[in-house]
Amino acid sequence: MGKIHDTKPIRSHTGEVWRTNSSNKKRLAVDFYNKCGYCGDHDIYSGGYNVYHVEHFAPKEKFGELEFTYDNLLYSCPYCNIAKSNKWIGKTSKEAVVGNKGFVDPCTDEYDIHLGRDIDGKIIYKTSLGQYIHEELKLYLKRHEILFNLEKIRMKRKALKEKIEFREKNNQDYKDLEIIYKDLSAVFCDYYELIIDESPVHTF
Ligand SMILES: [Zn+2]
Repeated sequence: MGKIHDTKPIRSHTGEVWRTNSSNKKRLAVDFYNKCGYCGDHDIYSGGYNVYHVEHFAPKEKFGELEFTYDNLLYSCPYCNIAKSNKWIGKTSKEAVVGNKGFVDPCTDEYDIHLGRDIDGKIIYKTSLGQYIHEELKLYLKRHEILFNLEKIRMKRKALKEKIEFREKNNQDYKDLEIIYKDLSAVFCDYYELIIDESPVHTF
Protein backbone atom coordinates (compact mmCIF):
# COMPACT_ATOMS: atom_id res chain seq x y z
CA MET A 1 0.00 0.00 0.00
CA GLY A 2 1.38 3.39 -0.96
CA LYS A 3 1.17 6.94 0.28
CA ILE A 4 -0.80 9.71 -1.38
CA HIS A 5 2.37 11.72 -1.97
CA ASP A 6 5.57 10.18 -3.32
CA THR A 7 7.38 13.08 -1.66
CA LYS A 8 5.69 14.71 1.29
CA PRO A 9 5.13 18.47 0.98
CA ILE A 10 7.03 20.51 3.56
CA ARG A 11 6.25 24.16 4.34
CA SER A 12 9.41 26.20 4.03
CA HIS A 13 8.06 29.09 6.12
CA THR A 14 6.14 29.58 9.29
CA GLY A 15 3.97 32.37 10.70
CA GLU A 16 2.71 35.30 8.69
CA VAL A 17 5.35 36.11 6.06
CA TRP A 18 3.40 37.58 3.12
CA ARG A 19 0.07 39.34 3.31
CA THR A 20 -1.18 38.50 -0.18
CA ASN A 21 -2.55 35.28 -1.61
CA SER A 22 -0.36 35.48 -4.70
CA SER A 23 2.90 35.77 -2.71
CA ASN A 24 1.97 32.82 -0.54
CA LYS A 25 0.81 30.79 -3.54
CA LYS A 26 4.16 31.13 -5.35
CA ARG A 27 5.98 29.61 -2.38
CA LEU A 28 3.29 26.98 -1.73
CA ALA A 29 3.53 25.70 -5.33
CA VAL A 30 7.25 25.02 -4.76
CA ASP A 31 6.77 23.46 -1.31
CA PHE A 32 3.99 21.20 -2.61
CA TYR A 33 5.84 20.26 -5.84
CA ASN A 34 2.91 21.71 -7.83
CA LYS A 35 0.67 18.99 -6.42
CA CYS A 36 -2.52 19.27 -4.40
CA GLY A 37 -1.84 18.79 -0.69
CA TYR A 38 -4.87 16.56 -0.16
CA CYS A 39 -5.09 14.36 -3.28
CA GLY A 40 -1.60 14.69 -4.83
CA ASP A 41 -2.86 15.62 -8.33
CA HIS A 42 -0.25 17.59 -10.31
CA ASP A 43 -1.49 20.99 -11.49
CA ILE A 44 -0.48 20.38 -15.14
CA TYR A 45 -3.55 18.16 -15.54
CA SER A 46 -6.02 20.79 -14.35
CA GLY A 47 -5.03 23.96 -16.12
CA GLY A 48 -1.80 24.65 -14.24
CA TYR A 49 -0.70 27.03 -11.50
CA ASN A 50 -3.37 29.68 -12.20
CA VAL A 51 -6.23 27.21 -11.72
CA TYR A 52 -4.95 25.85 -8.40
CA HIS A 53 -6.00 27.48 -5.12
CA VAL A 54 -4.52 28.63 -1.85
CA GLU A 55 -6.43 26.47 0.61
CA HIS A 56 -6.88 27.44 4.24
CA PHE A 57 -6.69 24.37 6.47
CA ALA A 58 -8.62 26.12 9.24
CA PRO A 59 -11.13 28.07 7.06
CA LYS A 60 -10.53 31.80 6.73
CA GLU A 61 -14.31 32.42 6.97
CA LYS A 62 -14.16 31.19 10.57
CA PHE A 63 -10.59 32.11 11.50
CA GLY A 64 -9.83 35.30 9.62
CA GLU A 65 -6.68 35.88 11.68
CA LEU A 66 -5.09 32.86 9.91
CA GLU A 67 -5.73 34.10 6.37
CA PHE A 68 -2.04 34.69 5.67
CA THR A 69 -0.45 32.38 8.24
CA TYR A 70 1.75 30.10 6.17
CA ASP A 71 1.37 27.09 8.52
CA ASN A 72 -2.37 27.15 7.78
CA LEU A 73 -2.00 27.25 3.97
CA LEU A 74 -1.92 24.52 1.36
CA TYR A 75 -1.57 24.33 -2.39
CA SER A 76 -4.81 22.68 -3.51
CA CYS A 77 -6.64 21.53 -6.62
CA PRO A 78 -10.07 23.13 -7.18
CA TYR A 79 -11.81 19.79 -6.53
CA CYS A 80 -10.48 19.39 -2.98
CA ASN A 81 -10.66 23.10 -2.18
CA ILE A 82 -14.30 23.41 -3.24
CA ALA A 83 -15.24 20.11 -1.55
CA LYS A 84 -13.66 21.22 1.73
CA SER A 85 -15.08 24.75 1.51
CA ASN A 86 -15.41 26.11 5.08
CA LYS A 87 -16.03 22.74 6.74
CA TRP A 88 -14.50 22.64 10.22
CA ILE A 89 -15.58 20.51 13.12
CA GLY A 90 -13.79 22.17 16.06
CA LYS A 91 -14.58 25.30 18.00
CA THR A 92 -11.05 26.69 17.70
CA SER A 93 -8.52 26.65 14.86
CA LYS A 94 -6.39 24.14 16.79
CA GLU A 95 -9.27 21.71 17.16
CA ALA A 96 -9.00 20.05 13.73
CA VAL A 97 -10.40 16.69 14.86
CA VAL A 98 -13.25 15.89 17.21
CA GLY A 99 -13.84 12.16 17.76
CA ASN A 100 -13.63 10.48 14.35
CA LYS A 101 -14.43 13.60 12.38
CA GLY A 102 -12.31 16.46 11.15
CA PHE A 103 -9.26 17.06 8.98
CA VAL A 104 -5.56 16.22 9.19
CA ASP A 105 -2.86 18.47 7.76
CA PRO A 106 -1.40 16.57 4.76
CA CYS A 107 2.08 17.92 5.57
CA THR A 108 2.16 15.73 8.69
CA ASP A 109 3.07 12.02 8.92
CA GLU A 110 -0.29 11.54 10.58
CA TYR A 111 -2.01 12.07 7.21
CA ASP A 112 -0.53 8.77 5.99
CA ILE A 113 -1.96 6.90 8.97
CA HIS A 114 -5.48 7.72 7.83
CA LEU A 115 -5.18 7.76 4.03
CA GLY A 116 -3.11 6.01 1.39
CA ARG A 117 -3.26 4.41 -2.06
CA ASP A 118 -4.03 0.89 -3.15
CA ILE A 119 -1.95 -1.00 -5.69
CA ASP A 120 -3.79 0.70 -8.59
CA GLY A 121 -3.14 4.20 -7.24
CA LYS A 122 -6.68 4.71 -5.96
CA ILE A 123 -6.94 6.80 -2.77
CA ILE A 124 -8.22 4.69 0.12
CA TYR A 125 -8.94 5.32 3.79
CA LYS A 126 -7.43 3.30 6.61
CA THR A 127 -9.27 4.65 9.66
CA SER A 128 -12.69 6.09 10.43
CA LEU A 129 -11.20 9.59 10.48
CA GLY A 130 -9.66 8.77 7.10
CA GLN A 131 -13.12 7.73 5.88
CA TYR A 132 -14.54 11.09 6.98
CA ILE A 133 -11.82 13.00 5.08
CA HIS A 134 -12.18 10.66 2.07
CA GLU A 135 -15.91 11.41 1.84
CA GLU A 136 -15.80 15.12 2.64
CA LEU A 137 -13.00 15.86 0.15
CA LYS A 138 -14.41 13.42 -2.44
CA LEU A 139 -11.08 11.63 -2.61
CA TYR A 140 -12.99 8.71 -4.14
CA LEU A 141 -13.19 10.56 -7.49
CA LYS A 142 -11.79 8.42 -10.30
CA ARG A 143 -9.71 11.36 -11.57
CA HIS A 144 -7.27 11.07 -8.65
CA GLU A 145 -6.38 7.49 -9.60
CA ILE A 146 -6.10 8.35 -13.30
CA LEU A 147 -3.92 11.43 -12.69
CA PHE A 148 -1.64 9.54 -10.31
CA ASN A 149 -1.00 6.88 -12.94
CA LEU A 150 -0.64 9.45 -15.68
CA GLU A 151 2.03 11.22 -13.65
CA LYS A 152 3.85 7.91 -13.16
CA ILE A 153 3.89 7.41 -16.94
CA ARG A 154 5.15 10.98 -17.44
CA MET A 155 8.03 10.40 -15.00
CA LYS A 156 8.96 7.05 -16.59
CA ARG A 157 8.87 8.68 -20.01
CA LYS A 158 11.18 11.44 -18.79
CA ALA A 159 13.67 8.94 -17.34
CA LEU A 160 13.61 6.94 -20.56
CA LYS A 161 14.28 10.05 -22.62
CA GLU A 162 17.36 10.79 -20.52
CA LYS A 163 18.60 7.23 -21.07
CA ILE A 164 18.08 7.54 -24.83
CA GLU A 165 19.99 10.84 -24.88
CA PHE A 166 22.82 9.29 -22.87
CA ARG A 167 23.14 6.36 -25.27
CA GLU A 168 22.95 8.65 -28.27
CA LYS A 169 25.74 10.82 -26.87
CA ASN A 170 27.91 7.78 -26.27
CA ASN A 171 27.24 6.28 -29.70
CA GLN A 172 25.33 3.35 -28.24
CA ASP A 173 22.32 1.69 -29.81
CA TYR A 174 19.09 3.12 -28.41
CA LYS A 175 16.50 1.80 -30.88
CA ASP A 176 14.97 -0.63 -28.36
CA LEU A 177 14.40 2.21 -25.87
CA GLU A 178 13.01 4.44 -28.57
CA ILE A 179 10.27 1.89 -29.34
CA ILE A 180 9.22 1.78 -25.67
CA TYR A 181 9.37 5.59 -25.52
CA LYS A 182 7.00 5.89 -28.46
CA ASP A 183 4.56 3.40 -26.89
CA LEU A 184 4.61 5.28 -23.59
CA SER A 185 4.11 8.58 -25.38
CA ALA A 186 1.04 7.24 -27.19
CA VAL A 187 -0.54 6.06 -23.91
CA PHE A 188 0.31 9.35 -22.21
CA CYS A 189 -1.16 11.48 -25.01
CA ASP A 190 -4.40 9.46 -25.14
CA TYR A 191 -4.99 9.96 -21.42
CA TYR A 192 -3.78 13.54 -21.37
CA GLU A 193 -6.24 14.52 -24.10
CA LEU A 194 -9.02 12.77 -22.23
CA ILE A 195 -8.22 14.76 -19.10
CA ILE A 196 -7.76 18.23 -20.58
CA ASP A 197 -10.90 17.90 -22.71
CA GLU A 198 -12.96 17.48 -19.59
CA SER A 199 -14.76 20.44 -18.09
CA PRO A 200 -13.43 21.50 -14.66
CA VAL A 201 -16.80 20.81 -13.06
CA HIS A 202 -17.16 17.17 -14.04
CA THR A 203 -17.06 14.50 -11.35
CA PHE A 204 -15.53 11.39 -12.84
ZN1 LIG B 1 -6.89 17.78 -4.63
